[in-house]
Amino acid sequence: MSQTESPASTNFVKEIINKDLASGRFDDRVHTRFPPEPNGYLHIGHAKSICLNFGLAEKYGGLCNLRFDDTNPTKEEDEYVEAIKEDVRWLGFDWEDRLYYASDFFQQLYDWAVQLIKAGKAYVCDLAFDQVRDHRGTLKTPGRDSPYRNRSVEENLDLFERMREGEFPDGSRTLRAKIDMASPNLNMRDPVMYRILHASHHRTGDKWCIYPMYDFTHGQSDSIEGITHSICTLEFENHRPLYDWFLDELNIYHPRQIEFARLNLTYMVMSKRKLLELVREGHVSGWDDPRMPTLCGLRRRGYTPESIRNFCKTIGVTKYNSLTDFALLENSVREHLNRVAPRVMAVLRPLKVVIENYPAGQSEQLDAVNNPEDPSAGTRQVPFSGELYIERDDFLEDPPKKFFRLSPGREVRLRYAYFVTCTDVVKDPKTGDVIELRCTYDPATKGGNAPDGRKVKGTIHWVSAAHSLAAEVRLYDHLFLKADPDDVSEGGTYRDNLNPNSLEVLTDSRVEPSLAAAEPGSRYQFERCGYFCADPIDSRRDRLVFNRTATLRDTWAKIAKKQNQ
Ligand code: ATP
Ligand code: MG
Repeated sequence: MSQTESPASTNFVKEIINKDLASGRFDDRVHTRFPPEPNGYLHIGHAKSICLNFGLAEKYGGLCNLRFDDTNPTKEEDEYVEAIKEDVRWLGFDWEDRLYYASDFFQQLYDWAVQLIKAGKAYVCDLAFDQVRDHRGTLKTPGRDSPYRNRSVEENLDLFERMREGEFPDGSRTLRAKIDMASPNLNMRDPVMYRILHASHHRTGDKWCIYPMYDFTHGQSDSIEGITHSICTLEFENHRPLYDWFLDELNIYHPRQIEFARLNLTYMVMSKRKLLELVREGHVSGWDDPRMPTLCGLRRRGYTPESIRNFCKTIGVTKYNSLTDFALLENSVREHLNRVAPRVMAVLRPLKVVIENYPAGQSEQLDAVNNPEDPSAGTRQVPFSGELYIERDDFLEDPPKKFFRLSPGREVRLRYAYFVTCTDVVKDPKTGDVIELRCTYDPATKGGNAPDGRKVKGTIHWVSAAHSLAAEVRLYDHLFLKADPDDVSEGGTYRDNLNPNSLEVLTDSRVEPSLAAAEPGSRYQFERCGYFCADPIDSRRDRLVFNRTATLRDTWAKIAKKQNQ
């Protein structure tokens, strides 16, 4: 255990593992797994599970497997398998040679099903799916026995074999465990173990036309792989007695299951079904839309693996369902990028500034600091000239109190450059909009300080008009308007809470020339604007595109908000 461990890094899961290590229950082994179903892309909730499982293996010098729970051929695809592998690697984890698929175990599972039939513990049932559900009863009323419950072992073996051989249509029969139709736990009321599905599987093709249910697969897969601690989310707590029953009846190696609370984030939906709907219905541009909570979406947004791992460490692991503020995730990426992202100047909504006393046609190179948090990042040169762009928001003709940026007659500092004073405002004669500012500069203030000691209250960023590059900038906001997207009036759906303004595209932004070489996926702090990432897919040398990863904390916005209240 590291000596600097914070309280958040010890949790109930570790306590259980420590006890098992002390008692020798698993011979000193710690072996976990991350078991995604390849029916969608991984999201930030999965990251919590990945960090937990791989993190525990790392901490205890154990192992962690990657296992695809691929028991449903109709929803699973290779595209998802490949994307999941890429995302787990990107997060920084390695399953080495331990990549498994539940479908690798289909023959073993089939043999175990036969074993249970022979032991009188499973039977072929001819009820249709909804009849099975109907017979199951409710939390208040016991279930009713299937009329097929007492078939002979011979008849069951024969029917199950014929199910496998494809003699019966989909849904006509199932194999069920013979447990207890009066159990207070609905999962124990003769659950279905196998269903008939004449569907091609992404790995086994048409070899099988019966498929094991998740509940008949999961625990045994853990057992086959020698998992010691099978960590899953809370909704599986009342499936545990069923997993235990299968393992005990089969008399095979028995891992320990531990349940923890899943991650829920404000302003996000996390169910793969809903995420798939958002993609299919075109509310987002794809699984990797930077507004999605998917790992590929967060990556495209500019999130770093470090920031996600750190977020997962911060939220910890508990037994109680709760809602985590999205701001915490954002804060994590801000904190990391603050340390590592180079600073550059970019003007998102340009306003032209002409410096009337700057020598016509001249320009010069000024030194700018790459990262004040990291002296080793050094400096770079940015070109300055008599025609610049500044941010529209940095000028107000009639400034309220505490607005310290540019306004008529006022002097401000241009970052790394000179003091300038606004002398005139040029307006569009038709609309009255400000289209250009006239300024003078003080050559003695080069570098940003006045030899006479006079002070200015504001420092603003800028780019040289002629030297800067055009860029498209995509500003992202929450995909949903409500912290809980499922908070809808009767008959409504989470879609009603979609934020119509979650994406704003700025097409005439200007960035400093050093960004000509911005590698797709590279991350920057645009000074005073936020953290941005060159879009890994759309950004090219001749057409720069930047995604806003996160805003900086904006004190003026806060003040303005307060004043409006
Ligand atoms: P969904 O219900 O949206 O389909 P799932 O839980 O079925 O998601 P899986 O692919 O089965 O998705 O999940 C793989 C692993 O990730 C499981 O062990 C699951 O417990 C864990 N997991 C999924 N969602 C979350 C979450 N929001 N927080 C923590 N762990 C999660
Ligand atoms: Mg699942």
